Amino acid sequence: MNKPILLSTPHIGNEELQFVKQAFDTNWIAPIGPNVDAFEQEFCQIIGGSYAAAVSSGTAALHLALQLVGVAPGDEVFCSTLTFTATANPIIYLGGKPVFIDSDRISWNMNPNLLQEALQKRAYFGKLPKAVIVVHLYGQSADIDPILQVCNQYNIPLIEDAAEALGSTYKQRSPGTFGKVGIFSFNGNKIITTSGGGMLVSDDDKLIGKAKFLATQARDPAPHYQHSEIGYNYRLSNVLAGIGRGQLQVLKGRVAARRRNFQIYQQALNDIPGIQFMPEANFGISTRWLTCLTIDPDKFGANREDIRLKLAQEKIETRPVWKPLHLQPVFANCEVIGGEIAEDLFTKGLCLPSGSNLIDEDIARVINSIKMIYLNSRKSASSIISSLK
Ligand SMILES: *Cc1c(COP(=O)(O)O)cnc(C)c1O
Repeated sequence: MNKPILLSTPHIGNEELQFVKQAFDTNWIAPIGPNVDAFEQEFCQIIGGSYAAAVSSGTAALHLALQLVGVAPGDEVFCSTLTFTATANPIIYLGGKPVFIDSDRISWNMNPNLLQEALQKRAYFGKLPKAVIVVHLYGQSADIDPILQVCNQYNIPLIEDAAEALGSTYKQRSPGTFGKVGIFSFNGNKIITTSGGGMLVSDDDKLIGKAKFLATQARDPAPHYQHSEIGYNYRLSNVLAGIGRGQLQVLKGRVAARRRNFQIYQQALNDIPGIQFMPEANFGISTRWLTCLTIDPDKFGANREDIRLKLAQEKIETRPVWKPLHLQPVFANCEVIGGEIAEDLFTKGLCLPSGSNLIDEDIARVINSIKMIYLNSRKSASSIISSLK
């Protein structure tokens, strides 16, 4: 029997255990502790950020980020449509209204021109959004400069959802360090993991201080428990921060392994008609967190779903590209600007097994299976043609 090949699994080594053991040995099992402080500092060093707050998830980080830039009930927030639902859910937690923006074909991320047109129109009507969330998808940065420029022009804070883009660059800097706040995720399927966790990053130390305050139940400085604000229980545990410190040490290698996976797939499959790999925009280096491609069914002979189901029969896990949020039932009433490109990427897009712990035989099995699906679809096409003769 074939063993299952999964999309993206946690990849843990020996570095992590020493920090976790330290936490046990010193009885620092609490949420906060020396590993948390060190994890924040080491994270800042690696991404070139100024201040950071480690929290329990990327979603928690986004929730805090939106609250800290002042999103309140009734406020609109512009947001990439091609993304995971966790990007937009916190807008709803705060009573805000998402407005979704389409992707471009260069990076699959937010189209800066669409954003600019939309903000120009909104400014004219005096109805600007409270914040913009740009997502850096599948390990690749969005085109940040023009997005940041137009946000600055209208004085709108930019939040960067870099949950999938740790280790990538935009003009030699890490995404997540350009906007007012950046967020990262250490969920189990991300490029490095703490099993669950997240990080807020900002150049504004007051903002990060406030994030830590809100994330620890908004406790006023007093010997008794006193609260003037509603807070959350969002801090990262000292044990998990230990895993994160170990994972940071191997981040470079993880990026290299994922980029290598991509190269092997690309070399083997690029010439098959109808297959196109996610482009790497010239403004940065993608981690290729997931290897993504699109299938043109007319040229390939089978569509994305046919391929996904056939691979699943062989215990190979693949996933469609994110279903755009403007197509999600839960956001059906939200406004969308454009949307056709994200829809096309969703219809044709497939993510291949991409973990940094994949072995070459696994990748070869995926490649051979896709080639077989292509050849069989050719065969059935030609047998239909000959039967018509
Ligand atoms: C994973 C992810 C999140 C949420 O992170 P969690 O740590 O799982 O809460 C947010 N945005 C994007 C784009 C993600 O991929």
